[in-house]
Amino acid sequence: MTTTLANSPDTATVRGHCVPTGLFIDGHWRTTDSMFDVIDPATAQPIAQVSDGGAADALSALDAAHAVRAAWRQVSPRDRADLFGAAHRLLLSRADIFAEVMTAESGKPLAESRAEFALSAEFFLWYTEQIAHLHGTYAPASHGGYRVVTSHQPVGPALLITPWNFPMLMIARKAGAALAAGCPVIVKSAKETPLTCALFVETLREAGFPDGVVNLVHTTSSAAVSAALMADPRLRKVSFTGSTGVGSTLLAQAAPGIVNASMELGGDGPFIVLDDADVELAAQQAVVCKFRNAGQACVAANRIIVHRAVADEFTKRFVELTEQLTVGNGFDDGTDVGPIISEAQLDGVTELVATLRGLDTELLTGGAALPGTGYFFAPTVFRVAGRPAELCDRELFAPVATIYEVESTAEAIEFANDTRYGLASYVFTRDLSRALAVGERLDFGMVGINRGIMADPAAAFGGIKASGLGREGGHDAIYDYLEPKYLAVTVNEEEGLA
Ligand code: NAD
Repeated sequence: MTTTLANSPDTATVRGHCVPTGLFIDGHWRTTDSMFDVIDPATAQPIAQVSDGGAADALSALDAAHAVRAAWRQVSPRDRADLFGAAHRLLLSRADIFAEVMTAESGKPLAESRAEFALSAEFFLWYTEQIAHLHGTYAPASHGGYRVVTSHQPVGPALLITPWNFPMLMIARKAGAALAAGCPVIVKSAKETPLTCALFVETLREAGFPDGVVNLVHTTSSAAVSAALMADPRLRKVSFTGSTGVGSTLLAQAAPGIVNASMELGGDGPFIVLDDADVELAAQQAVVCKFRNAGQACVAANRIIVHRAVADEFTKRFVELTEQLTVGNGFDDGTDVGPIISEAQLDGVTELVATLRGLDTELLTGGAALPGTGYFFAPTVFRVAGRPAELCDRELFAPVATIYEVESTAEAIEFANDTRYGLASYVFTRDLSRALAVGERLDFGMVGINRGIMADPAAAFGGIKASGLGREGGHDAIYDYLEPKYLAVTVNEEEGLA
């Protein structure tokens, strides 16, 4: 099916779908002189060229966002919710287009792209439903004499920086919350996956979002573009998903101007299998949790920590299931695991496996890149002895599983918490009381109990420690884009009452 998108001077045709390739600033698609290639990681071939924006383009986007900020926050909650409703319906009508474009630029299997699309649309709907339900308070001052009236106001123009591993989910849940709260946004897409972001922004435009409220910049110079925006006092919010290193750079840039910051950063997820676990369930969930998106997920099982009593049984089954996975082009029927995102990232996986081979480990399956075109790596499993320093605080971010054995539940908890990260963790046990007791002791923002997937709009997604600040989803996430506003109102208790 071919779609024709209005008002874009430049488009690319990807899998028969027309996608704008410019920057989107102040309600218009604009092209730049320089362009960069978007590569399909399954074929290593370019599928489109998009505009390569610079700091001046980003500042134009901020001009537009700043100019419209007062008007956007004045749009009544019901009118804003109606716009969201229109966008949500339009998004749903384009499910196949989004899924195919996502697979083409990120490589993930089509079934995973469809699932990501569905979850993204749900997040957007969640915020739609929240818009008209924000609350305030009215109370007497503690000693009387005046009233304390509180409500919330939008933080202001927001920079949203998204990664490539979930190209639609990241923009939908950030932009959903920010726009619902009344903040105009500047999205900085990941250079590997700009096309999904472009489709999302074009859909909001067609739904009727006013000029300047949504802006999109693609760039190969992320550091320069975001530094220019962060240094401008008109920018009031940054929301970032990506690595902890870049997150801390952005926090440092936010400090001088006290820019409000939300950070969804790296993870080192422990996946704990206790001695009373349903081992078959644990092995199945571990495979999904580890190899979904070819292991390139912040919530992936990074350390599989198994009680000695079930270690052999679990490991045998986990390896069997891993060996049943089909690696291939995400568009091929039956593909379970797609390619690694880029050649550089594939080199990183090869280096990681070389490091693991040099430690006190046993390679149980996989261990090498696959020959031929594209950036494919065989799903790989290592058994690891001890706790090598080389793996401490190391986010694998690859289709490489590491299994560790522990002697007790206490040791599992201690090892799980022995990391600077605190995003997702997992516990498998048949005893609910034990699951809760362990869950309460894990220093992580999220604990999956007998399940390896847990992202949901109703849940507060996010991490503690070096994994981030703030939450996406749940009842409170919209408040990350709102500030309390307090009005002190004098009330003369006696006058005018006679
Ligand atoms: P990355 O930090 O390299 O890039 C993320 C985004 O930041 C991209 O858009 C990139 O262009 C941009 N960027 C890079 N350098 C920048 C700079 N100096 N200033 C501003 N922007 C800059 O991360 P990645 O490799 O794309 O993604 C993988 C990382 O993201 C992993 O650590 C993963 O755990 C994390 N992640 C976290 C979550 C979460 O919700 N916590 C979700 C997905 C990914």
